[in-house]
Amino acid sequence: MKNSPLALPKKPFSFHGGANTPHYKNTRQKQSEIMPCPEQVVLPMLQHIGKPCKPCVKKGFSVAVGDIIGKDTGHISAPIYAPISGKVTKITQVRLANGRLYDAVVIASDGEMRMSKSIKVPVINSDTDLIRAVHDSGLVGLGGAGFPTHVKIDNHQENKCDTLIVNFSECEPFITADNREAVENTDDVLYGIITLLRYLHVERAVIGVEDNKPDAIKALKAAIEKSCDEESRHICVLKLKSRYPQGAEKVLIKACTGRTVPPHKLPVDVGCIVMNITSVGFLGSYIRTGVPLISKRITIDGSAVSEPKNVIVPIGTPVKDIISFCGGYKEACGKLIIGGPMTGIAAPNDDIPILKQTNAVIALNKKDAVQPPVTDCIRCGRCISSCPMRLSPVLIETAVKMKNVASLNRNGISLCMECGSCAYNCPAHRPLVQVIRMGKAMVRNTSKE
Ligand code: SF4
Ligand code: SF4
Repeated sequence: MKNSPLALPKKPFSFHGGANTPHYKNTRQKQSEIMPCPEQVVLPMLQHIGKPCKPCVKKGFSVAVGDIIGKDTGHISAPIYAPISGKVTKITQVRLANGRLYDAVVIASDGEMRMSKSIKVPVINSDTDLIRAVHDSGLVGLGGAGFPTHVKIDNHQENKCDTLIVNFSECEPFITADNREAVENTDDVLYGIITLLRYLHVERAVIGVEDNKPDAIKALKAAIEKSCDEESRHICVLKLKSRYPQGAEKVLIKACTGRTVPPHKLPVDVGCIVMNITSVGFLGSYIRTGVPLISKRITIDGSAVSEPKNVIVPIGTPVKDIISFCGGYKEACGKLIIGGPMTGIAAPNDDIPILKQTNAVIALNKKDAVQPPVTDCIRCGRCISSCPMRLSPVLIETAVKMKNVASLNRNGISLCMECGSCAYNCPAHRPLVQVIRMGKAMVRNTSKE
């Protein structure tokens, strides 16, 4: 850390566009519940952005909690560990919510939750030790992105970031898992931040939190105030006005620092490293205990769920088991969303397992699942004024209809982060995000030709 570190921001900066989505934070004040061990877990070998892992166990192997079962196969990858103890019953393929098939390890529980003898508290005395420990922990972006964290902090080393931004926006409706992490695991969150500042030599940390989380703001401020570590003097809690999609990296960087990440550039290019608050909390806990990433706090909510709550579950637990722990469906489920209602993926059924980066499951009843009828574009321009990336979704839609790849590129389709603000604000209910995804596929296919 330099002698005169950067000042901590006193108030947030504004950002362009976005949407005033409803909050529906029904589970914000409910203590998380730990789910009993499921009968079996299904662990797909791709639970991150990058190369899939390779199973390092075979059918019939006995495993303990924390044993490695999937080895990373490249730099951008992260190992996968057994979240329960028991027997490997098969190495198979599973189809996830995105419709793709992945290799997966299935473990049947022995009901004992025996801990692995390989679990060791990591020794960290340098940045290299920290990067290795983060790799060994299996940590990926837990806010939904799934990018391997050791790669993110390794990239930082070359680019010398001055600001760590802790992403505590949690701006999608319903989701409160990060909120509960900050309230229930406050000390680990702070320990994770202090460790990152100390070993990555980052000057300051800004926890960017939306103003609909008063209990978490209070807990974090109190923990910082109480801390005797020198680094805690360079950490602030920055209260942001709630507005979707403030949790998107580029939007949050603008709100917390006033810096603009240029098109096709990364947060490190403007001196920032962004980490989700649950990722930071897990890091703090891993450094204390050495227990790798094997469980996840998930928000279960929506009009079809009997008892909405936050549940801590072993990774790989089937969604149907978690819904059943929440009292089952109180009425027929019209739409099951893995993730939040703005950026999540609709799942074909509830057999699919929870992954490292899953933070919510939203089950809507049939009435809430009905999409309003799509009508003709009235050229109101609301989609343009809503776009935080300053794109023209209506022009992109026209280019997709015309199959005009040159126009798609001219209109910056690759910059779209699929936040859905444009579609949310469109009075004609046009499915702009789905159309943009089709446009991106057109661009990809053309570049392969
Ligand atoms: S918001 Fe909808 S109706 Fe208005 S210009 Fe955009 S696509 Fe057309
Ligand atoms: S065009 Fe993309 S980035 Fe812009 S508002 Fe729509 S979904 Fe979000």
